[in-house]
Amino acid sequence: MSVTDCLFCSIASGEIPADVVHESERLIAFRDISPQAPLHVLIVPKQHIASLDAARAPHQSLLGDMVLLAADLARTESIAGHGYRTVINTGVDGGQAVSHLHLHLLGGRQMEWPPG
Ligand code: 5GP
Ligand code: ZN
Repeated sequence: MSVTDCLFCSIASGEIPADVVHESERLIAFRDISPQAPLHVLIVPKQHIASLDAARAPHQSLLGDMVLLAADLARTESIAGHGYRTVINTGVDGGQAVSHLHLHLLGGRQMEWPPG
């Protein structure tokens, strides 16, 4: 898949609309179209990185920003006190459906373990 065919690149560029909760130079965060919890936000780098498996050392600070943004959004969305889950699905066995790196922030209900 080329970057121009990528759903999350299209959302990052504004070509496809989304319910955006945060945007910065390097990241965009928007509500999942099919939420699996009362709060379900996707934290996405604007740069096309296909998956965590494609991430390398130069992406280190970007990955750190993604995780810290998840924690910030959990606080601003008022779920931090009760707790939340952050997930990166990678590849086929990981259940990754969209081939553009993203971090799921899920909260507002009790999570289960092990995940499905
Ligand atoms: P994955 O399974 O790749 O980890 O997660 C992809 C996520 O993207 C899914 O939770 C799915 O509901 C969400 N998603 C798929 N298409 C769209 C869309 O067009 N807009 C938004 N906001 N979320 C989407
Ligand atoms: Zn992309």
